[in-house]
Amino acid sequence: MPGVGIRWDHHDEAASRTGALQMVRGFGLAMPPRSIHPPALTSNHISGRAIDMTIRWSGVIELPRKDGSAVTVTWTPNVNSNLGLHDVGASYGVRKLRSDAPHWSFNGR
Ligand SMILES: [Zn+2]
Repeated sequence: MPGVGIRWDHHDEAASRTGALQMVRGFGLAMPPRSIHPPALTSNHISGRAIDMTIRWSGVIELPRKDGSAVTVTWTPNVNSNLGLHDVGASYGVRKLRSDAPHWSFNGR
């Protein structure tokens, strides 16, 4: 993209891939299988209505929904399948995009 200081072509495929991987690690980008979505210029992040975050705990915890009821949630290595955690987030209006491990937003996109 003009005006963006990213060197995509290192005139060698292996070097270009290495450079791209350095950028992925440097910016903490989620890659498949954690995310199937490439960085985008149109997303809920642009309008400030999405956040990428990693949530970790060990074992089982009890979390409050917005209505005050409690949910028991067990940690799983794949946050995209942790429906109990998604339920708690949704009670606060924060919805999980299940195809992008760190992504939560107001509408789940
Ligand atoms: Zn995101």
